[in-house]
Amino acid sequence: MAPLSLDVKVLVVGAGAMGSGIAQVAARAGHHVYLYDARVDAAAAGRAAIERDLAALVAKGRLGEREAQATLARVEAVATLGAAREAGVAIEAVVEQLEVKQSIFLELEAQLAPTAILASNTSSLSITALGAPLARPTRLAGLHFFNPAPRMALVEVVSGLATDAAVAERLHATARNWGKIPVHARSTPGFIVNRVARPYYAEALRVLAEGAARPATLDAILREGCGFPMGPFELMDFIGHDVNFAVTRSVFDAYFGDRRFAPSLIQQELVAAGRLGRKSGQGFYSYAADAPRPAPQLEAAQAGEAALTVVGDLGVAVPLIGRLEAAGVAVRREPGQGGGGWLQIGAARLALADGRPATRRAVEEGCPNLVLFDLCLDYATTPRIALAHADSCGRGAYRAVVGTLQRAGLLVTGIDDVAGMLALRTVAMLANEAADAQLQGVASAADIDAAMRHGTNYPRGPLAWADQLGAAFVARVLGHLKEHYGEECYRVSPLLQRKTWNGETFHE
Ligand code: NAD
Repeated sequence: MAPLSLDVKVLVVGAGAMGSGIAQVAARAGHHVYLYDARVDAAAAGRAAIERDLAALVAKGRLGEREAQATLARVEAVATLGAAREAGVAIEAVVEQLEVKQSIFLELEAQLAPTAILASNTSSLSITALGAPLARPTRLAGLHFFNPAPRMALVEVVSGLATDAAVAERLHATARNWGKIPVHARSTPGFIVNRVARPYYAEALRVLAEGAARPATLDAILREGCGFPMGPFELMDFIGHDVNFAVTRSVFDAYFGDRRFAPSLIQQELVAAGRLGRKSGQGFYSYAADAPRPAPQLEAAQAGEAALTVVGDLGVAVPLIGRLEAAGVAVRREPGQGGGGWLQIGAARLALADGRPATRRAVEEGCPNLVLFDLCLDYATTPRIALAHADSCGRGAYRAVVGTLQRAGLLVTGIDDVAGMLALRTVAMLANEAADAQLQGVASAADIDAAMRHGTNYPRGPLAWADQLGAAFVARVLGHLKEHYGEECYRVSPLLQRKTWNGETFHE
């Protein structure tokens, strides 16, 4: 499907943070853009914000002066919707209220040509509900940009029940033509990103609630160990707890109280205290000018062993062995007895977590000196690795593991013995949610992964991650978590279960 021609004029309704950003994107692509806002002077202020952003790009050498001027010249602030009658597409970005948005679309339907496409930038409202009062709901779709729109690549093109597939395809092609990465999504609460991302916050908050470690430590595990651009606590502080809590609540309510999306009491307390994060100067962290940045937990330097034995297959953690060998640790190999392999380091057994707490697993495997390590994005390069040991593990045995990993230059962080540690349970739950979204026809596997990589900058799509770990392993981790907590929220997605039986992957 061809994108909208650059002759088509674009109307952006609502000139706030998102509306002005979207207007900038469309104008830079070459469209004439009408910018309208109900508040007097807001459209002019939105245009001034575009001018400032373009000037900043010119100053950084990312945009030529002439192109900046030409872009700005294409943005026309208008005082009435009637002044934008010639628009062939209208993108609404006003307050997140169903009735307000519905009345705008009714007016747009009256003002614009019957062929004009109508789009909403809503983050959470149903596109089906937005279109319901319209005479022609077929021409309405969601066009969900991320903040800041000029810089975030992802756009979710959302189809409601009535949306004409050709309208969604046209918007998809147009967003691509505007330099974005568009994905198709069916109108369901949270669409792709705001739904699939929920466990990134929820699992970290649960692990924090169990007192496994402090926020700075948990953030470092996901940021440095797994390559997420920000840890969950610093990210929540950045987004604002009021906003993040409201999104969590709205998704939770929209799914009729499904416990997978349950909000956290910790976050509710922060909101109640007005500790909204960066914008209020205090959230999980203090943003006072003189506040020291808390350091993540780091194990003190230990002696370590000069030799170890690899028993069986370490799976995704195999590169760890090469790293230890390169650091001069002598490695002996022994066949395993099936199941996951481990490293025998002195008196300790070091194994990848599998969703069971180390203390339980030590009893089941008859190995008191059991130490578990968390999932890392790439064991060959990870700067940090997190460990948790069984209650039965001797201090000396644990220290030998720490010291041996330190020989390979790893920063070793200890957390308390919590089921699934942090990164592993987070990634397993992200993959589980992504699998459900695919199963329920919200989006394709490719679009879900693209959405998570470009809407939240995850280092790897959750379904590609499940492919790398193996569906059977992810399902085993979730099964253990469900057993441990007795909570339905850890139940394995039927699609993930199916992959464990048919051996198929999410991606070809
Ligand atoms: P904002 O408060 O910065 O801007 C909203 C603008 O809409 C204001 O200028 C307001 O005057 C105007 N407005 C309100 N009622 C209007 C009406 N009846 N007619 C015309 N203009 C009207 O809000 P925002 O952050 O830009 O969000 C706008 C939309 O984008 C919301 O639906 C929001 O959910 C969605 N969104 C926001 C983000 C984000 O991170 N801020 C990200 C994606 C999507």
